[in-house]
Amino acid sequence: MMKQIYLDHNATTPVHPEVLEAMLPYMTEHFGNGSSIHSYGREARNAIDTAREQVADLIGAKSPTEIVCTSGGTESDNYAIKGLAELQKSRRGGNHIVTSAVEHHAVLHTCQYLEKRGFEVTYLPVDRYGRIRIEELREAIRDTTILISIMHANNETGTIAPIEEVCEVAREQRIPVHTDAVQSVGKLSVDVQELGVSLLSLSGHKMYGPKGLGALYIRRGTRLENLMHGGSHERNRRAGSENVPGIVGLGKAAELAKKHREANVEHLNQLTAKLRDGLHERLDHIHENGHPEHCLPGTLNISFESVEGESLILRLDMEGICVSTGSACTSGSMEPSHVLAALGLPPQLAQGTVRFSLGKNNTAEEIDEVIEKVPKVVEQMRAMSPAYKRGR
Ligand SMILES: *Cc1c(COP(=O)(O)O)cnc(C)c1O
Repeated sequence: MMKQIYLDHNATTPVHPEVLEAMLPYMTEHFGNGSSIHSYGREARNAIDTAREQVADLIGAKSPTEIVCTSGGTESDNYAIKGLAELQKSRRGGNHIVTSAVEHHAVLHTCQYLEKRGFEVTYLPVDRYGRIRIEELREAIRDTTILISIMHANNETGTIAPIEEVCEVAREQRIPVHTDAVQSVGKLSVDVQELGVSLLSLSGHKMYGPKGLGALYIRRGTRLENLMHGGSHERNRRAGSENVPGIVGLGKAAELAKKHREANVEHLNQLTAKLRDGLHERLDHIHENGHPEHCLPGTLNISFESVEGESLILRLDMEGICVSTGSACTSGSMEPSHVLAALGLPPQLAQGTVRFSLGKNNTAEEIDEVIEKVPKVVEQMRAMSPAYKRGR
């Protein structure tokens, strides 16, 4: 097989070798159940406690008891939003949620589910880069608002939201804020005290940890209804025997993310600048969608005029380059993603959109190769496009 260049790290990342090494013993000799009181159980319990401290340390939580391990970013988002909504409902405390149009489906579809169950949701529009406007947030808040859920950094565009300002507005009204920080944890310095959030979701496999493992930060004093019912695991907040190897892996990934973050970010920024400059040098009629300033290191979302994104991705895959599109193929017709639609991109342009998301293992040589191959493929595709030739 040809050597592959993987530029899809916002979809998932490879497990760091040190993470795997930390996990393996908990699948073999240290196989205990964290609830057992004998030595096998205590060993598992200690490993879980250490991992919880590592995660708490990464995001600046005051206490490891504020961290609940989950099956990933999706469960953390569901737990935060449904857990809060259900509790408010039982207290007759309001039924209105504010979120944005560019959230991950784990948040959007959860909100849509709640709408069918009597809750009301405001989906804030965004500007051309995908940022909400604080005035519009202020106007959306009602007496009945129980939660504001705004993602920290967008997985498609990389655009970073002004969460500190969101929290300031929310604090005036005493409304808890949840943020989906799955993409930002490990890439930005994410500190729950500085941000001011009550709830924060993160996921292992977006930061060189295992898939199927995540966490929800729950600020002390924030009460949620449980999602899972059963035993008294996770301090009575999430029932089910803990995935000990996975939790150990999440903790190790958190420790490494903190240790290597600055070096990784510098590396990502250099490579991203190189890729951006290289593409602009060799191609006309391309547009960048992420925010020019407030953007994740390593994410470059580009619309290529007169090119169909899905075909571009398949052709790049044949050239050994793995990227992803901003469109989802639903029942044969190309629907632009809800994120690109919310930015106001015309459907034609949205369909020619590609997300490059770089990772710590990418090299300058790989980017050189991408800068050679992408323009070649784009030009070939444009040469076959009647619309493109007519327009020039
Ligand atoms: C990947 C992702 C999720 C889902 O996380 P999983 O661990 O895959 O369930 C949620 N939100 C964002 C922004 C993501 O990028």
